[in-house]
Amino acid sequence: MTTNESGPHRSRPDEDVRVAVYAGFARTGRAPGAGELAGATGVTPGEVRRALARLHAARALVLDGDGDGDGAIVMAHPFSSVPLGFSVMGRETLWWGGCAWDAFAVPHLLEDEPEVLVATRCPGCGAPHAWSVGRAAPPPGDQVAHFLVPVAHMWDDVVRTCSHQRLFCSAGCVDGWLARTGLPRGYVMDVPTLWRLARGWYDGRLAHGYTRREPAGAAAHFAGAGLDGPFWGL
Ligand SMILES: [Zn+2]
Ligand SMILES: [Zn+2]
Repeated sequence: MTTNESGPHRSRPDEDVRVAVYAGFARTGRAPGAGELAGATGVTPGEVRRALARLHAARALVLDGDGDGDGAIVMAHPFSSVPLGFSVMGRETLWWGGCAWDAFAVPHLLEDEPEVLVATRCPGCGAPHAWSVGRAAPPPGDQVAHFLVPVAHMWDDVVRTCSHQRLFCSAGCVDGWLARTGLPRGYVMDVPTLWRLARGWYDGRLAHGYTRREPAGAAAHFAGAGLDGPFWGL
């Protein structure tokens, strides 16, 4: 069923394909192929590939390769088809968690998954960490998240950006990792701030008619999460 004819931002079949990508990721934990998407949307695989290329250009999802529609779906935020440091375990489904932001967003997005197990390793020392992330309140934890790329540049190379949004044991582990990698310091936040950042960020993404937000234009959401400074455009 399609309800997007009145949607101002995206036409069929693109919105149908986008919603089918999200439905597939949500249900199975992996990216659906062009054949599956054709079956789900009632258009040809060729039309699916052209729609995917337009969705990639519109930053509604991320294809690998040159984004011409022949590449696999790498990300449909918060979902990922490649490991970026996190796993997210639901009641019946296991997802690659994308980045720290994306992993913490999953229970807010998926109605049937009110609480998920998010697991990762500290990039600084390799120590394992896990949180039971739900909707009501931030999970306990004195770890810190470090984001490398400021919002104004998050889409310059979004897979690199997400792969550098990680959770560490402590500020000391961030410092050691920065010294070892030679990367510049980004932004450090505590676990409750990360949870508030993730809460609501992807609202509506599973439904027709979604209008995506650009990180660079989301100052009110960031300020409400407790973030501050030029890193966030604030
Ligand atoms: Zn550590
Ligand atoms: Zn991400």
